[in-house]
Amino acid sequence: MKAIQLLEAGAPLAINDVAASEPGAEEVLVRVAGCGVCHTDIGFWKDGVPTKKGLPLTLGHEVSGVVTAAGSRYEHLVGREVIVPAVIPCGECELCKGGRGNICRSQMMPGNDIDGGFAEYLLAPGRGLCEIEGKAGYELPELSVIADAVTTPYQAIVRAALGAGDLAIVVGVGGVGTYCVQIAAAFGAHVVAIDIDDRKLAAVADHGAGLTVNSAAADFKALKKQIGGQAKEWGCAAHSWKIFECSGQPGGQDTAFGLLTYASTLMVVGFTLAKREFRLSNLMAFDATVQGTWGCKPELYPEALKLVTDGKITLKPFIQTFPMSEGPNVMQRVADHEIDKRAILMPDWA
Ligand SMILES: [Zn+2]
Ligand SMILES: [Zn+2]
Repeated sequence: MKAIQLLEAGAPLAINDVAASEPGAEEVLVRVAGCGVCHTDIGFWKDGVPTKKGLPLTLGHEVSGVVTAAGSRYEHLVGREVIVPAVIPCGECELCKGGRGNICRSQMMPGNDIDGGFAEYLLAPGRGLCEIEGKAGYELPELSVIADAVTTPYQAIVRAALGAGDLAIVVGVGGVGTYCVQIAAAFGAHVVAIDIDDRKLAAVADHGAGLTVNSAAADFKALKKQIGGQAKEWGCAAHSWKIFECSGQPGGQDTAFGLLTYASTLMVVGFTLAKREFRLSNLMAFDATVQGTWGCKPELYPEALKLVTDGKITLKPFIQTFPMSEGPNVMQRVADHEIDKRAILMPDWA
């Protein structure tokens, strides 16, 4: 089968012929329908973020597909349409048993710990697969983005205990942030979206964001004042804001930290290698919380999928499918920020 492989960090991606393996007792073989391109893939490729498995490695961790073969334990899944969690926990360790399976140290992340989904088939652990009951007008490849772009902010929102009437501020409305906005609105929160790209802000204005602010255009004090004024108009408290940093950019982190106020919660969803300087004592003074959140535990996937199939959030305006044979070129365009929507690669090799 063909697969898009990283041979050496920074080197051009290659489409290689690789052998498709037989699943072991605890594994499944998934015929990939679609695999979304995430900035984490670009990080492994271009930014020197190390992969757990050595190179060459097939990238891609945002997979939907059909189980075509399975080991003895998961035979009942053969023929089923599934979403493969981006992070697959072991289910046995103390972290898993303590409800923190998303950071299980024995976790398997396709396209990082094991070969990933930019291929015709993905061999993965059968544990935690999210079975798709009804697609509600979606094509199977389109649902791939639930594996990461939807579930990652979903877990962040659940962890932040976001509730109806809360003020949610989403910093960075790219691949992940657009869904963070929609999910927060689906939870009944009033949502402010902040970005430096007017086109991205326009896209979420119709999908959950009650206020959009371009932080590149605004002076920070004015920005905070504008949000405070809008919060008041909505009847939200001037404290207890829930802030979601989804940009993974140093500037976005500055904005998110700067918006902390009394009893606020800042969820760090985006990733950057860059270091910033923050006055940590603001947390003490504001009695505020900063919390990181990594991926999403598989137990939450069915709820996130249901938000999509119930029509509470929409994927269609934020995704674009491409033939996987054009994958290296598409990934270059994603790296160059030439594709606004989440790119999904669909295997097109006969
Ligand atoms: Zn990702
Ligand atoms: Zn575990």
